[in-house]
Amino acid sequence: MFKKILVANRGEIAVRVIRTAREMGISTVAVYSDLDRNALHVRLADEAFSLGGTTAAESYLNVGKILNAIRLSGADAVHPGYGFYSENADFARAIEELGVTFIGPPPGAIEIMGDKISSRIAATKAGVNGVPGTVEVLKSPQEVIDFGNEHGWPVAIKAAYGGGGRGMRVVADAQSAVEALESAQREALSAFGRDESYLEKYLTWPRHIEMQIICDAYGNSIWLGERDCSCQRRHQKLIEESPAPGLSQETRNAMGEAAIRVARACGYQNAGTVEFLYQDGEFYFLEMNTRLQVEHPVTEMVTLLDLVELQIKVAAKEPLSFSQADVKTYGHAIECRINAEDPSEGRFIPSPGKITKFATPSGFGTRLDAGYVVGDVVSQYYDNLVAKLIVWGKDRESARKRMLRALGETEIAGIATTIPAQLKFLAHPVFIEAGHSTRWVEEGAGLEDLIIKTELKTQDSDQDVVSRSLLAEVNGKRVEVKLLIPSDLVSSTNSGTQSTPFKRGTASKQRSQTLGSSRGGSGKISVPMQGTIVKILVSVGDKVEQGSTVCILEAMKMENAILADKSGEITEVRVSPGDAVGTGDVILVIS
Ligand code: ADP
Repeated sequence: MFKKILVANRGEIAVRVIRTAREMGISTVAVYSDLDRNALHVRLADEAFSLGGTTAAESYLNVGKILNAIRLSGADAVHPGYGFYSENADFARAIEELGVTFIGPPPGAIEIMGDKISSRIAATKAGVNGVPGTVEVLKSPQEVIDFGNEHGWPVAIKAAYGGGGRGMRVVADAQSAVEALESAQREALSAFGRDESYLEKYLTWPRHIEMQIICDAYGNSIWLGERDCSCQRRHQKLIEESPAPGLSQETRNAMGEAAIRVARACGYQNAGTVEFLYQDGEFYFLEMNTRLQVEHPVTEMVTLLDLVELQIKVAAKEPLSFSQADVKTYGHAIECRINAEDPSEGRFIPSPGKITKFATPSGFGTRLDAGYVVGDVVSQYYDNLVAKLIVWGKDRESARKRMLRALGETEIAGIATTIPAQLKFLAHPVFIEAGHSTRWVEEGAGLEDLIIKTELKTQDSDQDVVSRSLLAEVNGKRVEVKLLIPSDLVSSTNSGTQSTPFKRGTASKQRSQTLGSSRGGSGKISVPMQGTIVKILVSVGDKVEQGSTVCILEAMKMENAILADKSGEITEVRVSPGDAVGTGDVILVIS
C-alpha cells in the first residue's frame, strides 16, 4: 500500500481524498496556489507545497511545479481528483516515469475516452449505441446546416475534448449555425486548449443517467448502480440522485452491462463513469468519464462503499474483494451541489466572494463535503463549487424531505448560492414525480420570480499580506525563509521596517451585486460579476437591439453573454478583450 499520496487538486475533492487517505493510514500532501495558501485542503493535509500563482494555469495546471512538488514530497502516489489532471494521459505518464503511481486509469484508456469522438467510436465497436451523430471533426458551419436539415433540428455542436457542458452549443436552426460553431470552438479552446468539434442530434426531453463502475488490474469489472443527474442548468448538474427514479431493473442491468462493455473496450482500470442519455425507454452512450465524478457520494451512500478507498486499493494493485452479485443498494440518496452562483430569475450568475457565515447542516443521513469554511474566499479564478450536501433516506420521498430539511439548516452569507433554487426544485411537483429532463430547469422549473437580495463581498483573498525575507541557520545550514505576514499586523506593530506589499489576487472591494437585467435600461452596460472580457461583439457606431449580446464575459470558468438593456447606438466601448473587470463596472454605453 502507498505511504504518501499527493492530491493534485483543491477544494472539496482534495478534502474528500485527504479524509479517506487518513482513515487508511496514508499520509497526505496538498499543493496550493497563492490564493489557497490557507485553504481547507491545505490545513487538513499532513504537509503542503506552494505552487505560487493565482489562476489555475499559473498554479494547479503548471505541470513543472506539480512534478517538482511530487519529487520534493517523496509521495509514492498522486490522486488527481476531478478536473485538472484527472483525464490527462500525458500527466499520468509523466508521473509514472518518476516511479509514482497515478490513482486513476491507464493512460491509454484516458486517451480513448478523453476525446468524445474516439469514445463514440470505441462504444459503437463494443456494441453500445451513442446519440445519433457524427464521428468526424467539423470543418465548416455548412456541415451543421446539412446535418440539421437531414436529421432535424435542434443539433448539438460538441467539443471533442469538452466537459461540464463547456464547448457545447445547441443550434436551433440553420441561421444560428455560424455563431454557434464559433462560440463553441472559442469556449473549447479557452477551456481545454483544443477546439475540435462534432455533431449530435439534440434530444429534447432526455434524462441524464450514468453508471458507476470499478475495475481492478485482474480483469474484474463491476458496476455499482446508476445516478440520475437530470436536474441541470446550462448542461451542468445541480442535483443528482441514486437510484434513478422509475428505472426498471431490466434497463438498469442492461445499462450496467453496457457500461462494462465500454470499459473493457478501452482496457479500463480504476473508478469510472459511463454516461447515457435516456429518452422514451432507450439509452444512448454519451461519454465515459475516466475519473471520480463530483456526484460519486450518492453511489457511496446507497452502496456503503467508499469509492476513494476502492480507487486507492485498485491503484495499489489489490484485487476487488467483492463480485457483481455482492453489490447491493439500500434506500435512496440525493446530492445538491452548492455553487457560488446567484440563481435569481434562473440566471445562475457566478458569485465569488468571502464566506461571512456558514451554518452547516447535520443529523441522521446527512453528509456535507465542503471545500470551504466560514472566512474562506471563493475566488473567481477557480470553479464555483463550494460544497456538496448529500442525504440518504429509506426511499426517494424520505431523502427528498431530508434534503429540504438539511438545506433549510444551511445558511451561507457573503456569496450567493444555488440553495434557493434547489429548495424550489425539490418542492416542485415535477421533481417530486421525477418528471424532469435535462431541459427542465431552463424550460419550466419556475425560477423567473426568484430574486435573491444579498450584500455580496467581491474579493479574491482574505487580506493582503506582506512578504519578508529572513535568514535562518538550520543545523548550521544557512537558509532564507520567506514570511508572509498579514499587512494589518505589520503596520500596527512594525511600521518603520521596509516591506514589499504582496497582493493576493485583485484588490478587495465591497459592492452589492446588481443583476444586469435585460428589461429596459439606461444604456450604461455594466457587468454583473467579476471576470475577464473574452470578446466584444460591437463597435462604436453599431446599432443594437435590446436583448442582443454585446459582449462575452468569462467568470468562474463560464462564458456569460452580456446583453444590451435597450435598443440604440453604441457610443462608447470602454474595455478590450483580456481586460479584468469588477462587479458593476460599466463596459459600454448605448444611447
Ligand atoms: P460534458 O462533457 O460537458 O459533461 P456531455 O456530453 O456529458 O458533456 O453532456 C453534458 C450534458 O449536456 C448532458 O447531461 C445533457 O444534459 C446535455 N447533452 C449532451 N449531449 C446532448 C444531446 N445530444 N442531446 C441532448 N442533450 C445533450
